[in-house]
Amino acid sequence: MVDKDKQESSGASPAKPSSGGGSKPRMIAIEEAFATREFLDHLLKSAASSPYEGVRYAAMVMSRPAVADRLTSIDVRLADMDAHGVDMHVVALSSPGVQVFEPKFATALATKVNDELAGWKRKYPKRFACLAAIAPQDPKAAAEEIDRAIGDLGLNGIIINSHTNGEFLDDPKFWPILEAAVKHRAAIYLHPTFPSPAMVKPYERYGMHGAVWGFAAECGLHAMRMVLGGVFDHFPELQIVLGHGAEGLPYWFYRMDLVHTATMAFASQPPGMVHLKRKPSEYVKSNIHLATSGMCWDDVLLFGIKAMGVERVMFAIDYPYESSKVAADFIRNAPLSEKDRALVLSGNAERLFKIAT
Ligand code: MN
Repeated sequence: MVDKDKQESSGASPAKPSSGGGSKPRMIAIEEAFATREFLDHLLKSAASSPYEGVRYAAMVMSRPAVADRLTSIDVRLADMDAHGVDMHVVALSSPGVQVFEPKFATALATKVNDELAGWKRKYPKRFACLAAIAPQDPKAAAEEIDRAIGDLGLNGIIINSHTNGEFLDDPKFWPILEAAVKHRAAIYLHPTFPSPAMVKPYERYGMHGAVWGFAAECGLHAMRMVLGGVFDHFPELQIVLGHGAEGLPYWFYRMDLVHTATMAFASQPPGMVHLKRKPSEYVKSNIHLATSGMCWDDVLLFGIKAMGVERVMFAIDYPYESSKVAADFIRNAPLSEKDRALVLSGNAERLFKIAT
């Protein structure tokens, strides 16, 4: 399929899609960070006393005036989008979100963040779709906020910035959140954060807790805990999005299936093994989607499409941390058929996030 796509697109103008009756597909970028001033202020205030090095790191990055403006200002964002031909951002509260705050405060702040996002959508319905922030620290309150943010405010999905105080979504205590997501048919964007306290020590040198490696290691671990913990047997309709080339999961399909099958056959199994109805990779292919954020590399895109299916691959920039120009140029020029490019640019996102066409 990928080879055929390559042939179809060879020699064709990469920026001129031919599907959809000749109309150019919108460019929707689906992992675009945002923050309110109140969130930033609180993150900066709490950074010094936080037990997490990652909070200090995030606060340091986000406190730079240029980054803070790009996170908080609609006008700065729209100018960047217009300059690079990006039609729509799917906007979500920047990592680590409210997940590092005390539960009551975090729940209240998530509500205010979602109210602000609903305002962005109302003002610019063609430019913004929005993912709801929640505080998994209080799973019941988080499920209620999903009811409100998706059901009442009409937001398009949910952002969870990976682990919450070192706990993961395979823990049944969080399942009211997953139930609410399924009820509203709302996809959860499982976005990286710095490694959890039990994991972080060896990552604290060389800046490894960040996006160079630690983010993918931690978020990939989180997704694998959900797969191997049987979360998708329990919630077969649950849909998760992973950025950055699905944090490397497709690359591991062969080995994860081989070793999981072999381990299940051991007479004495490692603790916590769960009998799964299907092979691990099959859940990735039916319950997880891949975004191209921060991974502007043709070979990874083509392999992701081959491994996951083109209907599970979506364009993302990772504004304001990555270059909109680099990402937009990458996807416009990637060796895809125009039909596949249209799906990656907007068709898949419109379907998953219920974005009006
Ligand atoms: Mn991101």
